[in-house]
Amino acid sequence: MKVAPQNESSVKGLPFSVDDIGLFAVDLDGVVYRGDIVLPGAPSFILRVREMGRPLVFVTNSTLRPRGYYVSKLHAMGIPVEPNEIITAAHATGRYLKGVLEGASPTIFMLGEQGLKEELANLKPRYLSPDDEEVAQAVVVGLDRGVNYPKLCKAVRDVMEGALFIGVNGDPIWPVENGFMPGVGVFLSAIETATGVSPFIVGKPNTYMLEMAIRECGCAPSQVLMIGDKIDSDIMMGHKVGAKTALVLSGVTSMNDLDVCPTEMHPHLVARDLAHLEAILFHSK
Ligand SMILES: [Mg+2]
Repeated sequence: MKVAPQNESSVKGLPFSVDDIGLFAVDLDGVVYRGDIVLPGAPSFILRVREMGRPLVFVTNSTLRPRGYYVSKLHAMGIPVEPNEIITAAHATGRYLKGVLEGASPTIFMLGEQGLKEELANLKPRYLSPDDEEVAQAVVVGLDRGVNYPKLCKAVRDVMEGALFIGVNGDPIWPVENGFMPGVGVFLSAIETATGVSPFIVGKPNTYMLEMAIRECGCAPSQVLMIGDKIDSDIMMGHKVGAKTALVLSGVTSMNDLDVCPTEMHPHLVARDLAHLEAILFHSK
């Protein structure tokens, strides 16, 4: 493990050069902001990457909001961004389904909310309701705060009848202002328990979103720097594709968590926040 020294003047032996990075992939919550608070150094770090002229994507497991929401939120924080630089798990799910579903207007049974629906709009799907007899081509599961027994029944029945079973992400919980709420993984587990079928999960730590970004950028996976605050999500996704990884401690992971985590999951770099990461990557040149 390469742990970033706390004293920036002593930074030596960076495991790679920032000049070799062809794509910066950056998680949002816990890295760029926490709730509505921008985290230290985030606008400056992003500006620095822009000055380098290298591609940048923000990669988030979000299922609730469309990409436009993040464009506005980042703009308000002093971080200009284009919609195509944001990959949410909801957006990636739309792209994934476009590749696997046949027909002009595929049938979908969805657990999810408006943000997910907006990201699936390009498919021109026909949504089934819980009391429809027809079996959907795909059961798509995102965060649904109105989940109920009839919805679960329909999802289970259709997966048993052969519908594709897709999870937008597999997060067991999601952070809210004052703690945590049950996440998409809870619904997936319920359906998997009933059917014995495992879902295909689009979001982190699976690699679909990052592979999508790499394909569009055209760089090699080893030229990607994945920056995130969660070892078992951001960092694991980065490792799986063969990217460089940087963990920031401004989110959910502490140095103690890192100490007890298996060595093979460790990131290439650790920084307190993006301000510290900028110092490590750029000032050591
Ligand atoms: Mg995060």
